[in-house]
Amino acid sequence: MNLYIDFGGTHFKYCFDNDEVIVLPSNQIDFIEFIENQINLKKELQNIAISFAGQVRDGVILNAPNIAIKELHIKSYIEKKYGINVIVENDLNAATIYEYSLYNNINSMVVLYIGTGFGCGIIIENKLLHGKDNFAGEIGHIPFRKTSFQCGCGRDDCLELSVSGKALGGLKLNEVDEKTKQTFLDGLVHSFFTILNLFNCDVYIFGGSVMQNNIWLLDFLQEEYKKSSFYNLRSELKIAISDSQYGNIEGLKLIIKE
Ligand SMILES: [Zn+2]
Repeated sequence: MNLYIDFGGTHFKYCFDNDEVIVLPSNQIDFIEFIENQINLKKELQNIAISFAGQVRDGVILNAPNIAIKELHIKSYIEKKYGINVIVENDLNAATIYEYSLYNNINSMVVLYIGTGFGCGIIIENKLLHGKDNFAGEIGHIPFRKTSFQCGCGRDDCLELSVSGKALGGLKLNEVDEKTKQTFLDGLVHSFFTILNLFNCDVYIFGGSVMQNNIWLLDFLQEEYKKSSFYNLRSELKIAISDSQYGNIEGLKLIIKE
């Protein structure tokens, strides 16, 4: 039996094998206590796969801009104490593995999720980009416009402070003030063009609660795309909004299968 966990900035989702996913508020979770309780309840656990909304490397949660956890050696702690295999992956990397599995005959894909935060996963020539520290794709922490907020990473001008559910205070894009909305759209377009020109992918998937709650953004991005440099020279680009609710968990299942 496997335990799959998706620890996001707002929601903590988990399930066993292909059972129904259970959703809890992230701010009520004591992570180690939760995992140890599950291990004690389910004696036949073999693997624990974790998708985490933050920076992870070699099974260590290094930092989490939207979750109160730092420097957590979760993999080595659980493996040493219980002998259960633990995999920890960045949430966008897990989501990207899943989204990629839905397409045939493509070479490259970028997945951008705007939920509580703003992240991205990149597959180029059929290979997920990790980078030296597994930090590749941290689009949300690229400097953009100075804000009156402080990002969990320490800066005050991250894209994520303008383009995220956090930036919208949990409201829909048409419910926030004009300046907040315009800044969000400017940041989204800036990110889209940056990614488009850097990676030249077959498919761009936008996901996360903010995209799913503002479906009109798909038309907006398709219009913006027509203004992109080299538009007339580019071959067809697919832009889609993911309707997946549990893409991170599905990605974990694919990682375990390997
Ligand atoms: Zn940041």
